[in-house]
Amino acid sequence: MDSDYCHCRIKSDYFHFSAAVIRPAMKLVAKVSELPFIGPVYAKRLARLNIKTLADLLYHFPYRYHDFSIISPISRVQLGEIVTIRGKIISIKNIYTKNRKIIQQAIVEDDSGQIEIIWFNQRYIPNVLPAGSQVSLAGKIGLFNNKLVMESPDYEKITSPNQLTIHTGRLVPIYPETSSIPSKWLRSRVAQFLPEAEVEEFLPLQLIKRSHLPDIKSSLQQIHFPQNLEEAQKSRERFAFEELLLLHLSILERKNSWQKQESCYILDIPQKDLAKFMGNLPFVLTNSQRQAVNEILADLTRPSPMNRLLEGDVGSGKTVVAAIAAYVITKNNLQTIMLAPTQILAQQHFDTLSRLLNPYNIKFHLITGGKKIGHYDVVVGTHALFHQKQPLDRLGLVVIDEQHKFGVEQRAILLGKNLKACLPHVLTMTATPIPRTVALTLYGDLDLSVLTELPAGRKKIKTWVVPPQKRDGAYQWISKRVKNGEQVFIVCPLIEESEIESMKSVRAATAEFNQLKEQIFPDLKLGLLHGKLKANQKDEVIKKFRERQIDILVATPVVEVGIDISNATVMMVEAADRFGLAQLHQLRGRVGRRELQSYCLLFTESTTPKTISRLHALEEAKSGSELAELDLKLRGPGEVFGTRQHGFPELKVANFGDLELIKKTKEAAQEIFPSLSKFPKLKSHLKTHLVVAN
Ligand code: ADP
Ligand code: MG
Repeated sequence: MDSDYCHCRIKSDYFHFSAAVIRPAMKLVAKVSELPFIGPVYAKRLARLNIKTLADLLYHFPYRYHDFSIISPISRVQLGEIVTIRGKIISIKNIYTKNRKIIQQAIVEDDSGQIEIIWFNQRYIPNVLPAGSQVSLAGKIGLFNNKLVMESPDYEKITSPNQLTIHTGRLVPIYPETSSIPSKWLRSRVAQFLPEAEVEEFLPLQLIKRSHLPDIKSSLQQIHFPQNLEEAQKSRERFAFEELLLLHLSILERKNSWQKQESCYILDIPQKDLAKFMGNLPFVLTNSQRQAVNEILADLTRPSPMNRLLEGDVGSGKTVVAAIAAYVITKNNLQTIMLAPTQILAQQHFDTLSRLLNPYNIKFHLITGGKKIGHYDVVVGTHALFHQKQPLDRLGLVVIDEQHKFGVEQRAILLGKNLKACLPHVLTMTATPIPRTVALTLYGDLDLSVLTELPAGRKKIKTWVVPPQKRDGAYQWISKRVKNGEQVFIVCPLIEESEIESMKSVRAATAEFNQLKEQIFPDLKLGLLHGKLKANQKDEVIKKFRERQIDILVATPVVEVGIDISNATVMMVEAADRFGLAQLHQLRGRVGRRELQSYCLLFTESTTPKTISRLHALEEAKSGSELAELDLKLRGPGEVFGTRQHGFPELKVANFGDLELIKKTKEAAQEIFPSLSKFPKLKSHLKTHLVVAN
């Protein structure tokens, strides 16, 4: 009896935060499989959640809390209330009902009275909580056979008088749902390991003080087992701060290490040839194009390789800037490769570059498979280029269009593969409308050139939100435009988005196409474009559209990025409310490529004032990044940075909607980075525990 009692004491202390236990501290880098109470089965399940070390486990945060913090004497409980009671089990048994269910029925008593407890179908409970056990129970008070009872409460055994409870009598952490790892299990492990884990503050103390953040030890305690919700919130703020700070620091580190690299080639700028080349362009560069070109040329003559982002709304003319850079590279007898996110865009870049560079005896190649590209000057392709076997030994420039479609990782592979000891120059181009603060975070390692203006003569695209009753009128109006010699895009609703579209959206687009062709525009030429077409079929459709053999192109949202058809003047979007503002802005950028007045019709069946007014934001001229910021406010970061746009790093605690915190942490990171070696703990944390992807 004595020894039993003793055993319980030790175990319970060990379980519940006691500082009295003297054991070697648990290292944060310890593998979960090496920790007590975690067998191979759970280690495997944890691995599936990407929890491999003790640090990962402690950083697996609850996403909400059950409020079991009201502790009540039994005599005071009221119907409907959610409470915790503490007492002794007087009796407990399994009861078999007529319809073959099993009910567990117990009587619990404290100084104030008794109450009946019932559970359903948990036949092991009488073994876990035999009569005589001291228990803490949390749950709802209901009525059963006209008596107050506590229904299916959460429970934990009390084995010492001052025991702190973790499943009852407090705010109880609930972890992101996984069927194989119950919250109760996670809670127990965290409660057990937290007091013994070797947790050390790694953020600079000044920073913690200045930003009024709780230290790491209390933050971990309070995010898992808060006394109140303010405490939970405060600790969450610390982890959000920490997460963004680490993200900024890692980006600064990346930038720093890139700048330390040597460039393979320091280039000559062939001033005379270049002037001639510019003079031969079919248009005059805009001021911001000219500035971007100058910034790029300056980069190319420096000893460290260029790593620049060229950002500009759709239609701002990024391709010609890249073509000028490619021309300079070629003149230095080096190769350029240009990567596009889709085959259609690769084809288009290829055509544009050909037009611009053809007069100069430059060898071009559009690559679609893993073919040899060694002896070309300029190679255009998609990610198929990643599968290039042989290294390019004269690679001077890599141009990446729409960078977010390529993971940073892929980019690294590409560069690594084609590299000897030095790096080529890299120019990344994007029209992705993201708020400026977010851009400066995610692309913080790149130097930035921005095209702030559209080529002269472009008219503002007239944009209208079209309610259902105006649909017929809109169709008639579209017919008129076509008869006027103009072309039209009709974009089908966004159904499911993935790199390769789902069959569902393909079927929807096909149905829409057939209906329009047969019933609405029987006398016009319609084409259909979707993601399940083979590459050559897609090219064929685009070619026909470009050559005006198609009047109206019905397409799934694949047309979003990059297609340039200068005679298209109408962009009509079905179920526009399903798209983000920034996405619609990109779609709209498909038209308005010439001096012709262009139009964007946003069809919606929605009557929700909020939705309608969101769409109306597009009727006023706004830049892509302004719209993105609005999107972020109206729809939240999940919609804007979730599955819809690929390649953004996933944040665990912080979110990209918190522009204030992004700014604050960026400033902190910039302040710390130059003297990072003065903060060895932070530095090593940055190496080992960085949980942020990217
Ligand atoms: P994006 O920035 O969206 O990639 P593009 O490079 O496809 O834009 O350019 C859009 C169109 O504008 C192309 O037809 C291109 O030839 C044309 N263009 C580019 N720069 C100018 C300019 N300075 N003046 C007039 N037209 C231009
Ligand atoms: Mg483009």
